[in-house]
Amino acid sequence: MKKIKVNLDKRISASHEICIGYNILDRIGFVIAKNLPALHYIIITDSNVSAIYGESFLEKLRSMGLQADMIGFPAGEDSKNIHTALAIVDKLLKLGADRKSALLALGGGVVGDMTGFIASTFMRSLPYIQIPTTLMAQVDSSIGGKTAVDLPEGKNLLGTFYQPKGVFIDVKFLETLPEPEFSNGLAEVIKYGIIDDVELFHFLEEHITAIKNRDYGDLEKIIENSCRIKKGIVEIDEREKGLRRVLNFGHTIGHAIESQSDYAISHGNSVSLGMIAAMMISEKLYDLSGKDRKRVEHLIEVAGLPRRIPPTVTTDGILSRLKRDKKKEGNIIHFVLLKKMGMPFINGGVPDMLLRETVEGLKNDADAT
Ligand code: ADP
Ligand code: ZN
Repeated sequence: MKKIKVNLDKRISASHEICIGYNILDRIGFVIAKNLPALHYIIITDSNVSAIYGESFLEKLRSMGLQADMIGFPAGEDSKNIHTALAIVDKLLKLGADRKSALLALGGGVVGDMTGFIASTFMRSLPYIQIPTTLMAQVDSSIGGKTAVDLPEGKNLLGTFYQPKGVFIDVKFLETLPEPEFSNGLAEVIKYGIIDDVELFHFLEEHITAIKNRDYGDLEKIIENSCRIKKGIVEIDEREKGLRRVLNFGHTIGHAIESQSDYAISHGNSVSLGMIAAMMISEKLYDLSGKDRKRVEHLIEVAGLPRRIPPTVTTDGILSRLKRDKKKEGNIIHFVLLKKMGMPFINGGVPDMLLRETVEGLKNDADAT
């Protein structure tokens, strides 16, 4: 089991560790019991993950003599709302949970965000531990302490910053992860390669076939590298005041595509398109090499992610979403752009014409050279 320490500002949160390994779910139980003692452990999970891993993990904890229970809710982003949160809170009360209890978030980003949100507010907070089971959650959402539920008006509108007491990543979970969910997470790994770690990018280019076949050695490596990059950025900027924004590379246009498609285009797919767009803009404004953009496009394609926006999502729709963001952010959208691979920076605005041209370019298959 590899360990990565997340050193946080003591005035805000205690430091904790990220543990990564293969087939470590049983050992996770031991480490939690030994290092993160609580009087009552409550696993929060969704219906899919509970069916595959929930019971055996619960039995493991109980067989160690721990008081343990499990609360499940229906899988899917639609569950990530305040009603589900209240239903879970109701069950927590019935189970007699209090501040001496600990919540164990066993699942993808939906479970992690929701459990973190409840942990930060239930009885004015209790500890929680992240056990992410999707690639997306293992490399991104389980690290950094962002918690949230969605509101009808938009995603993640109700949430907190609240760090977990530990993050346990078992690469074996990925063996049962459906393909679209897997490539969804790969988009964020590619992002780390582009913004921070050119070696990781090369590794992805060379090993993409093995990675797609879920080679656990390669997976462990890319997950560890991704976690190191994310935790390094979170350590410097826990509350997303500055540097942490570089993690939004590909996310500005990405979010516009995602919401304009009514979430039919997944987060990872949208971010892939957003990354290509950010590279096209960087090419025009900052002389980023066209070769780099083509390499990224190729990697995105072989990773099973899209390079072009489907015709159902209109350019005007995407641009009007961006305009709305612009109004919210004080009439300027700060894009994360690239001077070269591994060198991101926050730019002070992109001309409307260039935005339109870029989105159009992303819709045009003839341009896919
Ligand atoms: P994300 O982590 O991308 O935010 P979700 O939490 O919505 O995504 O999880 C995506 C889907 O994958 C959900 O249907 C969830 O139940 C399912 N899932 C999560 N982890 C696993 C796993 N290890 N094996 C199979 N299905 C999983
Ligand atoms: Zn993302």
